[in-house]
Amino acid sequence: MATIELQNIAHSYDGGATFALKEISMTWEDGKAYALLGPSGCGKTTLLNIMSGIIKPSQGRILIDGVDITDKPTEERNIAQVFQFPVLYDTMSVRKNLEFPLKNRKVPAEKIKERVAHIAELLGLEDQLDIRPGKLRSDLQQIVSLGRGLVREDVAAILFDEPLTVIDQNFKWTLRNRLKRLHLATGVTLVYVTHDQTEALTFADDVLLMKDGEVVQVGSADDLFLEPSHEFSGYFIGSPGMNFLDAEVTGGQVVAHGVNLGPVADTSLSGPHRLGVRPEFVRPVDTGGIDVEVLKVENRGGFQLAQLLLADQKIMAKLDADLEIASGEHRAFEFVPERTFLFHDQRAVSTM
Ligand code: ATP
Repeated sequence: MATIELQNIAHSYDGGATFALKEISMTWEDGKAYALLGPSGCGKTTLLNIMSGIIKPSQGRILIDGVDITDKPTEERNIAQVFQFPVLYDTMSVRKNLEFPLKNRKVPAEKIKERVAHIAELLGLEDQLDIRPGKLRSDLQQIVSLGRGLVREDVAAILFDEPLTVIDQNFKWTLRNRLKRLHLATGVTLVYVTHDQTEALTFADDVLLMKDGEVVQVGSADDLFLEPSHEFSGYFIGSPGMNFLDAEVTGGQVVAHGVNLGPVADTSLSGPHRLGVRPEFVRPVDTGGIDVEVLKVENRGGFQLAQLLLADQKIMAKLDADLEIASGEHRAFEFVPERTFLFHDQRAVSTM
């Protein structure tokens, strides 16, 4: 077990022509499960490949327990990687595939037997041990790949690059839970790349949300949902994501599209800002509130999704399934103040 530190890691491809990562500095704490979450092309795989040694970063250093491993090849780093598609030897049985990383490192035979049995049990692979991987369904092959990543005891971290891509939707949940159980049982640091927010939020202790080669926010599922520190957290997390409005702060009041929305928490703010509020925190009120027109209401099974018009701005609200509301009516709504954020240069600077 070990702490991995990234110092000013940056990377570009094609001799600087394609930029992939801006400066990233962070410490991966021992034993935690991390998810790297972000849209396609934001640099997740590049960061993972830099950690495992497949790519040498254009700039920066990687340290494991204080030792600089930046120039060490993949096989000399105690970091295992599981790829998007199964990487297995089809000439060998599942058991031999699982044994391989250990045999390579000259682990004693007794120990190998014990480890393989343990991993096979955790992943539910006991009945497949003597079969060749090519004979298994692709999702089971990927589970064997996961097993190969997890079988070593000496790894500082295991990196997963969208490992559930080939897994059937119905089985993803089971596998995520097995992975989680395995993480708890082994205590190894896990880094898990995904562009699927559900996968990231249910799996990880900490989610690193990435955009355009930068980590914009690090936090728990609740942090990213309830306390977005960057506009992108509001936009990317949640379904639908945050509502954004252009707003002006004057004399301690927030005005958007000509409507006074109430006081701002940080009274030192003034000038133009972006206001963000999640559909979950736009709710009807009996007294006070802001007048909106209800444009459209859809029953989404378990909740209603309403499109509202505030002056000339459309906003979404997630409402209780049993709330009586119809399109065409005018109604008073509020933005829950402590869940309504003002952003400046994309960074959250205050709530209302
Ligand atoms: P995805 O979810 O689609 O895998 P990602 O977040 O993992 O995306 P990367 O694959 O790390 O993102 O890509 C980051 C940027 O670097 C993108 O602009 C991509 O086009 C570029 N890139 C990645 N690999 C290479 C390469 N081998 N050569 C040139 N450019 C590359």
